[in-house]
Amino acid sequence: MSQFFSSRYRDLTPYTPGEQPQERRYIKLNTNESPFPPSPGVLKAVYEEAQRLQLYSDPESRKLRKALAEYFGMKPEQFLAGNGSDELLNFAFMAFCDEEHPAFFPDITYGFYPVYAQLNHIPYREIPLREDLTFCLDDVQEKGMIVLANPNAPTGLAKSPDEIEALLQKRPDDLLVVDEAYVDFGAESVMPLIDRYDNLLVIQTFSKSRSMAGARLGFAAGSAELICDLNTLKYSTNPYNVNRMTEAAGVAALQEDAYYKENAKQIIQNRQFTAEALRSMGFEIPESKANFLFARSSKIDGGTLYRALKERGILVRHFNKPRISDYVRITIGTREEMQILLQETKAILEDQI
Ligand SMILES: *Cc1c(COP(=O)(O)O)cnc(C)c1O
Repeated sequence: MSQFFSSRYRDLTPYTPGEQPQERRYIKLNTNESPFPPSPGVLKAVYEEAQRLQLYSDPESRKLRKALAEYFGMKPEQFLAGNGSDELLNFAFMAFCDEEHPAFFPDITYGFYPVYAQLNHIPYREIPLREDLTFCLDDVQEKGMIVLANPNAPTGLAKSPDEIEALLQKRPDDLLVVDEAYVDFGAESVMPLIDRYDNLLVIQTFSKSRSMAGARLGFAAGSAELICDLNTLKYSTNPYNVNRMTEAAGVAALQEDAYYKENAKQIIQNRQFTAEALRSMGFEIPESKANFLFARSSKIDGGTLYRALKERGILVRHFNKPRISDYVRITIGTREEMQILLQETKAILEDQI
């Protein structure tokens, strides 16, 4: 730390992203990326848009918001595009929380939420998940902004729209932010509830099911008023937050929806196959609706399995955190990648004995 670092941030513990190694080729099952490349139309759109790089991007991302509005049957004013959904989550903490409106989220969830709260000096409380990693919405009692990843990460467990709607009705004065980063892998979205609840903000990303993690594109959807508040933060930080190529890629991805739906279907099948095989080896895995499995075995602890897999050329994610250090989180890749993972895991377990 330099002598110049502001005292406001000295205690801040930044988010730790999953490894992105450059030195060796791994089977990468650690950051929930798609194993499939972007669709042909996305590549073409990026190439064509690059011809106009000398010009600033559209600060309103009008083409993308129009495409999103058509896709979801909503209005463009109900959308804001972001430089990844991470940026929009940060805007939501900035816009809707303060001393009187703390943030609430489960103790086991996306690791960025407490970082946004700390960064913005917002009080927050982590609500403990139950022993089986489920989360009962009745466990939230205080007033403030509630943030739910649905499906949750890293557990993969999903809530039904009915449960979420009950919370929206019960707490009309509290904003509920639903982070649907993994919703396309078998959970049900609450996007259709937006027109009926002005206390609902939904955040989605193109990083996971739409194979665009490297392009950085996410969007927030909610009432025009909520989006207007988020825009105030956006125009106070980075008006050109979505670059030209990324916006064009997003529009093209929505046009080629069938390709991404087919990929998601394959991921779901591979998830099923992998979960069954791991369970038959003795792993315990919550019912995942995401593109990853959260697995533990009484035969090996999470850190040991992570290191052994890494030695064998497979990267998974291990969280050295209380309550979940027994687990590894395994991104679902292609069938071939999953077969190698299973084969190596089996060999590691046999070596243990
Ligand atoms: C991956 C992920 C995000 C971040 O997505 P980006 O759009 O790449 O910033 C947000 N929330 C959760 C729960 C995630 O797992």
